[in-house]
Amino acid sequence: MEKRDLIYEGKAKKVFKTDNPKLLIQEFKDDATAFDATKRGTIVNKGVVNNKISAVLFELLEKKGIPTHFVKQLNDRDMLIKKLEILKLEVTVRNVVAGGMAKLLGLEEGIILDPPVFEYHYKNDALHDPLINDYHIIALKAATKDELKYIEETSFMINDILKDFFNKLNIDLIDFKLEFGKHDNKILLGDEISPDTCRFWEKGSKRKLDKDRFRRDLGNIEETYQEMLNKVVSGVQ
Ligand code: 5GP
Repeated sequence: MEKRDLIYEGKAKKVFKTDNPKLLIQEFKDDATAFDATKRGTIVNKGVVNNKISAVLFELLEKKGIPTHFVKQLNDRDMLIKKLEILKLEVTVRNVVAGGMAKLLGLEEGIILDPPVFEYHYKNDALHDPLINDYHIIALKAATKDELKYIEETSFMINDILKDFFNKLNIDLIDFKLEFGKHDNKILLGDEISPDTCRFWEKGSKRKLDKDRFRRDLGNIEETYQEMLNKVVSGVQ
């Protein structure tokens, strides 16, 4: 499958047309941004790592019955995906307090959330992806009530599958962000699942194994992304 016109360039990925109008190619870049793109940098090989980790995790989810946009990994940086009409929402699932939730509610990072916390954010960098609820989404017609019910149920199933997968790798899945979109009128999981979109803490030491190393200037960024790739690949061998 060949790349045709560039149709979209985001912070971490480029999206290209293909000869098939229903399929696109997403190319993972090394560019890293944080705090609504006010902090910018490069993480060498991040694109290769995130493409492979996302491919492994999408395959795992598909095997467990979660419909995703993933078709196949084409090469180091390119993934063939189903074309989605992306909903203007970000879904966050949190198992442990960190990042945005710690800041919003003045909490210490590390408090366990049982049951997990499920959030919707409005996808808008200029507004800092504000927290919204299902009433906002339905009133603004960003999704229907039935679609939200499906998204919530599916997100909790994804959390269970990913938590279990990372537990076996001695990693706690702290939180993650998902994006969904429509393809042939069906809701599919889209975007990526990677150290850019999840928080991972090594069990015991609580060492951060994700993009917080870049956000907070913790060092060993490239090495940690590579380490996560090795762990994730070992999890499916
Ligand atoms: P927080 O709301 O604490 O900043 O983020 C919660 C989780 O979702 C983290 O794992 C974070 O990486 C991910 N996340 C939230 N918003 C974004 C976003 O705009 N871009 C990316 N790459 N990840 C996000």
